[in-house]
Amino acid sequence: MKYASTRDSSTQVTAARAIASGLAPDGGLFVPVTIPAVDESFLKKLCTMDYRERAVAVMELYLEDFTREELEEDVKNAYGANYDDPAIVPVRFLRDGTGVVELYHGPTCAFKDMALQMLPYLLTASLKKCGEERQVCILVATSGDTGKAALEGFADVPRTKIQVFYPRDGVSDVQKLQMASQTGDNVCVTAVAGNFDDAQTGVKTIFGDRAFADKLTERGWFLSSANSINWGRLLPQIVYYFSAYCDFVNAGRLEMGQPINFVVPTGNFGDILAGWYAKQMGLPVKTLICASNANNVLTDFIRQGTYDKNRPFYTTSSPSMDILVSSNLERLLYCLSGDDKLVAGYMQALKETGSYTVGEDLRQAVSREFWAGSCDDARTFAAIRARFEEEGYLMDTHTAVAWSVLEDYRKETGDTTATAVLSTASPFKFCDSVLRALGEETDAPGTVLLEQLTAKTGVPAPAPLAALKNKAVRFTECVEKTEMLPAVDAFVR
Ligand SMILES: *Cc1c(COP(=O)(O)O)cnc(C)c1O
Repeated sequence: MKYASTRDSSTQVTAARAIASGLAPDGGLFVPVTIPAVDESFLKKLCTMDYRERAVAVMELYLEDFTREELEEDVKNAYGANYDDPAIVPVRFLRDGTGVVELYHGPTCAFKDMALQMLPYLLTASLKKCGEERQVCILVATSGDTGKAALEGFADVPRTKIQVFYPRDGVSDVQKLQMASQTGDNVCVTAVAGNFDDAQTGVKTIFGDRAFADKLTERGWFLSSANSINWGRLLPQIVYYFSAYCDFVNAGRLEMGQPINFVVPTGNFGDILAGWYAKQMGLPVKTLICASNANNVLTDFIRQGTYDKNRPFYTTSSPSMDILVSSNLERLLYCLSGDDKLVAGYMQALKETGSYTVGEDLRQAVSREFWAGSCDDARTFAAIRARFEEEGYLMDTHTAVAWSVLEDYRKETGDTTATAVLSTASPFKFCDSVLRALGEETDAPGTVLLEQLTAKTGVPAPAPLAALKNKAVRFTECVEKTEMLPAVDAFVR
């Protein structure tokens, strides 16, 4: 199976090459040329498997150049004792029958671990398969969770380095401390004086700098990405849609073959796009519900067909979704239109004017597959409080955005289809907001807040977060957004 660039489909490469490169040379994203199809017997078999076996069964469909033995070994390492729940991705059913798919039981307590515990294995194997002799430096722009998850995944992985840029004022105390205390000899963490889009734009500009790439090659290095623009990031995320479906069936909440809805708290459009791939493969999904916070650029796009990032940027209580440019949307536009020139044009317009409008056919195709809604911080907090007070279930701010949008969806459509809400972070990662939602005063530092949230709710903090108070801060540097390239230049030697 080959992978094509969304901006020039004549560029076609193997899975290993797509994963090793991250971004296509023309700036496009790699997508599989054909989407593998599965049938009900595949789903029935998946239902008898554990998470690791499900992961191998789904991912091998996309990775012809990997052996099953390789994948089994990698999956065992990626989803093992580093998870604090033996189910890896448990589904908790709430009183109204909604299933909460808890994607945050990995080492950094956010769903990014689902992909980033797997990516280093996929990437290092891909480099070998491509005969790549240079070493790789992973560059990451993060709105908080990706950075830590990537650091944890790549720390001390041979022949790699990793450098993470995060917006100085755009991440929580706990997130900042998680990153700044990262151990490993091959890691570097740098704050940027700007927002997430500044950091992401800076990283994209560095990736596009040919002269800099040549300079690194002379030193025996090249750059790659662990952002969700890398196919190796997206692929492991397809797995949990299948896994959640099987868990609904196994719990007697769904008959095999009946449709399910997924509500996805969305930022860069990677998570929900993985759900769209699962649906294209044959998973019985009715509606994918795209939930945004006050940065509702996707809500407007899905409803009206105009993507316009020329709007105020809000710093919200769900910072991992504070995003105005959702990179993975490009993949969807390409897959729905099949037209690389069209997509290249939209992306050019986005770059030059900050906006583009898709044609009516494409707009309808998008709104057939997705329903979109958004919610502000006040409703996010109200959802956290209501779920906790009514049934003792504690959710984080991102999950609460999804919950609120699901309520809107049900009100507006009357749809009673069984529904899964993807829960993307431990509430302890955002304890300042969660405490405020529960009516507590908070001005203490993050590590104290962890204890305060446990005292308030009786829920223990995940072990990796509880351990933060004993960790030393290693990284304190902050650069202007124009100074990102020199920072990489200094690190990759
Ligand atoms: C990254 C992230 C999201 C958004 O996922 P995308 O793939 O960027 O849409 C939502 N919630 C949390 C907690 C995240 O870390």
